[in-house]
Formats: sequence, structure tokens, C-alpha cells
Amino acid sequence: MTPESIARLSAGIRDVPDFPKPGILFKDITPVLAHPELWDIAISALIETAGDTRIDKVVGIDARGFIFGAAVADRLKAGFIPIRKKGKLPYQTFEKAYTLEYGEEVIQVHQDAIAEGENVLLVDDLLATGGTAAAAAELIDQLGGNLVGLAFLIELTFLKGRDNLPASVPLHSILSY
Ligand code: AMP
Repeated sequence: MTPESIARLSAGIRDVPDFPKPGILFKDITPVLAHPELWDIAISALIETAGDTRIDKVVGIDARGFIFGAAVADRLKAGFIPIRKKGKLPYQTFEKAYTLEYGEEVIQVHQDAIAEGENVLLVDDLLATGGTAAAAAELIDQLGGNLVGLAFLIELTFLKGRDNLPASVPLHSILSY
């Protein structure tokens, strides 16, 4: 990925102050989705983070992680696994509660979503406090998945979310603020 491409991608992220609560500067990725060139840069950059490692399953987190994760899974010829907010998945689930930058949340995954030893890449749009990704990593571990990478389009470095994630798993963010 060239610095020019990354700069174009960064310019496509829209800052929305005080959403969904006062004091939160929301990073709106929808302009990237609407722009074919930026969308391609975003997915290509996320794929590059996997390097030569074979990925069996891409896990995406509700809801924007579905958009990026599904596109990444398609290009990597991997399966896609949704981790959803509580109450949305129809089959038997495992769940994990965690604290968000702006609230409390419970996420769930289907119990048969990942086979023992499968290589898993976790994808989300944004790393803030790391609570969501840490909870997702625990669910992947519970399923017996081998988490080989964490890939985020955006990292809010000042929140130090990385510190809440397993140090043994490579963590990549395409844009940092
Ligand atoms: P966290 O668990 O704190 O790392 O929060 C990450 C999740 O919350 C991601 O799935 C994001 O979609 C969302 N999120 C948190 N903070 C922001 C923000 N400032 N702008 C956009 N999305 C955010």
C-alpha cells in the first residue's frame, strides 16, 4: 500500500463530533464504502495484513466489522463468521460481556462457527478501547480457533486498546489517529 493511497483513504474518513454521545468523535467510514477506489484500498490493505498466512475463517464484529470482514473473507477465499450483539443469532451460542467506549455490550457467536485449530483473522472497522476485540478474541479461543491476526481499518491510539489484546497475536491498523 503506498503512502498516497493511505492518505486518500484517511481523507475519506469523516469525523462526526458528539456522536452517539457528547465527547465522542465518531469516525464515519461510510464515505469510504461509497467510493469504489477507497473501498478497494481499504480491503486490499486489510488483506495485506494476513501476509502469507492461510486464513480459514474471517471473523467480523457487528455491525461495521461485517462489511469489511465479509469483503476480506471473499478475497481470501475464507469463510466468514459473524460475531453479533446478543439476541440476533438463531442457533446455540457462546457469549461474552464487555465494556465499550460508550456503554456495555454482550456479543455472541454460534457454537459451531469455527473448527478446532482453524486459522482465524479478526477484522473490525475501528479499535477504540479494545473491549470488543478482546471479547471476540476470547470467543474465538473458546471455539478452539487459532487467532493469527487482528486487522482494523482505524486505531484510536490514545485509547491504548492494543494493551487489552493478546500480545502474541499480530495487530495491524491501516490508519491511526
Ligand atoms: P472498543 O471496544 O472500545 O474498541 O470499540 C470498538 C467498537 O466500537 C468498534 O466496533 C467501533 O465500530 C465502535 N467505535 C468505538 N469508538 C468509535 C469511534 N470513535 N468512532 C467510530 N466507531 C467507534
